[in-house]
Amino acid sequence: MQAHATESQIGAVCERIEKAGFRAHSIPGAQRTAIGITGNQGAVEIGLEEMAGVAEVIRVSKPYKLVSRDAKDSNTVVRFPHLDASIGGEELAIVAGPCSIESREQAFAIAERVAAAGARFFRGGAYKPRTSPYSFQGLGEEALKIMAEIRDQFGLVIVTEAVDSESLELVEKYGDMIQIGARNMQNFSLLKRAGRAKKPVLLKRGIAATIEELLLSAEYIMSGGNYDIILCERGIRTFETYTRNTLDISAIPVVHKLSHLPITSDPSHGTGLRDKVAPMARASVAAGADALLIEVHPSPDEALSDGAQSLFPQQFAELMEQLRIIAPAVDRTI
Ligand code: PEP
Ligand code: MN
Repeated sequence: MQAHATESQIGAVCERIEKAGFRAHSIPGAQRTAIGITGNQGAVEIGLEEMAGVAEVIRVSKPYKLVSRDAKDSNTVVRFPHLDASIGGEELAIVAGPCSIESREQAFAIAERVAAAGARFFRGGAYKPRTSPYSFQGLGEEALKIMAEIRDQFGLVIVTEAVDSESLELVEKYGDMIQIGARNMQNFSLLKRAGRAKKPVLLKRGIAATIEELLLSAEYIMSGGNYDIILCERGIRTFETYTRNTLDISAIPVVHKLSHLPITSDPSHGTGLRDKVAPMARASVAAGADALLIEVHPSPDEALSDGAQSLFPQQFAELMEQLRIIAPAVDRTI
């Protein structure tokens, strides 16, 4: 739509699209609103070009439509207005916390340290997708309640993973952002459920997924009507054995070119090794990441999951100081 298009012009275009039997997605941007059309097979000839307020009608040739930059040229900024935070704008978003919520004491101790160091987002697993069924599976709803208290006390945005429809319901109730993990990136029924959710979704790249597959998974969520999606590069499986995964930093500029959605980098899962986390975090910010996801634990050797990749709180604070120097070089603030 044109920059000065009115609400009623936008409404009229959506109505015409819906009347023709398709779905209209009105996606506001910084300057203008984009209206995506889904449900069509091939070209849509319903005279949209002639309608008042319409700037241009573009056929998106990519397999992913709504998430593509062809559909909307301005960057998507996902906002958390109740906590005065956002992802995708000028401010670099720092998401930090333990892999798993292990106890109220552990979670509060970490939240205090990461908030003091400048993080605005707190992560913690309540439902853990573990490789072994005998590994710690998470505290479930109890952990969600602890994190809701952390939001109230520290003003941090709560990010936590949903592993199925049932847990998504609870994560939506207690949390602020719903994480869909690497192992669920192509769980299409979960993606459809996330498309109906009323909270933003952090979608992680699968361990063997291409960037196109990641964007198509985001398209599942977006075509369901949830436009607040943040992508996450968390490392892919390669033949390398000196790191847990290979963090594909090149995914950051690739995604920025193809999509308007923000992208997070997760150097914790991306490397699996504590001493590799800070260098890759710095590189990710330099490459243009919109957010970082960092695991932090006060006694990593005793952590119930992912201790080997968790930073000590002091290391996290030092990393934040370095990022404060790097961020302005790429036009970001912390
Ligand atoms: C996590 O964030 O702790 C996690 C399990 O991530 P991933 O899905 O990337 O393995
Ligand atoms: Mn983890």
